[in-house]
Amino acid sequence: MVADTPIDQIAPIHARLVATQASGRTYPLEYRKTQLRKLYWAIRDNEHLAYKALKEDLGKPHFEAYMAEVGWMYKDILYALEQVDKWAAPEGQPDLETLFKLLMSPSIRKEPIGTVLIIGAFNYPIQLVLSPLVGAIAAGCTAIIKPSELCPKSATFLEKIVSRLDSDAYGTVLGGVPETTALLDLKWDKIMYTGSTGVAKIVTKAASKHLTPCLLELGGLNPVVVTANADPKLAARRTLWTKVHNAGQICIAADYALVHASKEAAFTEACVATLKEFLPNGPKDAEKMGRIVNERHFNRIKGLLDNSKGKIIYGGSTDPSRYWIEPTIVKVNSLDDALLSEEIFGPILPFYVYKGTVDEAIKISNSICDTPLGFYAFSTDKQEQEYLLSHTRSGGASINDCMFHASLARLPFGGVGESGTGNYRGKASFDAFTHRRTTITQPSWTEKQMRMRYMPYTLESAKQ
Ligand code: NAD
Repeated sequence: MVADTPIDQIAPIHARLVATQASGRTYPLEYRKTQLRKLYWAIRDNEHLAYKALKEDLGKPHFEAYMAEVGWMYKDILYALEQVDKWAAPEGQPDLETLFKLLMSPSIRKEPIGTVLIIGAFNYPIQLVLSPLVGAIAAGCTAIIKPSELCPKSATFLEKIVSRLDSDAYGTVLGGVPETTALLDLKWDKIMYTGSTGVAKIVTKAASKHLTPCLLELGGLNPVVVTANADPKLAARRTLWTKVHNAGQICIAADYALVHASKEAAFTEACVATLKEFLPNGPKDAEKMGRIVNERHFNRIKGLLDNSKGKIIYGGSTDPSRYWIEPTIVKVNSLDDALLSEEIFGPILPFYVYKGTVDEAIKISNSICDTPLGFYAFSTDKQEQEYLLSHTRSGGASINDCMFHASLARLPFGGVGESGTGNYRGKASFDAFTHRRTTITQPSWTEKQMRMRYMPYTLESAKQ
């Protein structure tokens, strides 16, 4: 059992970080780089523990754990180390209207926003808190991470990793709702929250008491549109990757597919062939795939499947003993189907067949969720691709692929509308925890030139 952080220790940890922030200790770039290097080596030295924790918490295969957690972190840290001098450099403003104003050395300083709270979700328990932490360290902030309590082994691993950093500047709070509630009572300079839309409302309400800005990374129902111009095999393979990887517990996984009638037969045939290729022995290959995080989520996903009026094309078996759900393809005939009612966050792909133009698919996807985190479309027609993008909204999008836009470590990642606000990764992570402080230094000799600004605003006073 992991021991939760005692509630009465939370405010003192926060106070220690606030004091460190005020002392200016985290400000020098050399300090920030040292902490980033420490973070890198803390993970490197304990890499085997990360794989073990992720296996125990989520059944994550080693490859997935490297690709989307451990290796992900190395990329983020090394890129921040390489770029932080450039990101933190003040921006001069040579294009001001007059030479006179230029003499005031106007610049935009990149100041740490302050002491920040980073709350993570369960599905990528390591990267969802450490990747923002990289941005916070690079920006010169002090920070507390609050990993998901649903992955206790990973949370313990994270506590160990963060303990290798300056303990007056960075900390871990372990626990669930009571501990997060205690954290949210305190005054932060920024809160970064990754999780469900419902809890985001609790977080933002608490933050509003202190006017604390929030960066919200949330979910939504992500569509895949397989148009009449799509390559159905490619669409099936790339879509199902998102349902098998991490057992489909991915905020940017495909939630459902809208398949043009002309492609239905080829798409379903390709889906079945793909799943037979991914898991040649069906449920006997369960150990090779990740599993659902806990009984509650297992029952929730199974409930969606049981309540669906759709036809199971492939899969459908479950193993309650290890919370495993077989990757399953379901043809749904109604847009009211249970499988289209909420983010599935599991290895089930419902698809609905549309018969009209691509406008019909757009209308349906916008009616199901008009601001998903990811939008995916398969079409070989460039004009159609552009049309789909310009008539939908989403945090990010991949054309002729799913999820891959989010794997680009240097590009911003984030939602829009219900799927979140703000973004991070690469420079965006630094910017997320940075205050752009416009500054001038006024030479004393400009007093004469400036006298017209003073009262009593008369011609005489301006001439003095
Ligand atoms: P969750 O909202 O249940 O939990 C997230 C965090 O909030 C946890 O650390 C938890 O301890 C805390 N929390 C939960 N209930 C709380 C409460 N009542 N008061 C205060 N804190 C509370 O989310 P989850 O189940 O861990 O993650 C799944 C959700 O996260 C999905 O909706 C998914 O789409 C989303 N997600 C989004 C991203 C993204 O980058 N946009 C990434 C991963 C997951």
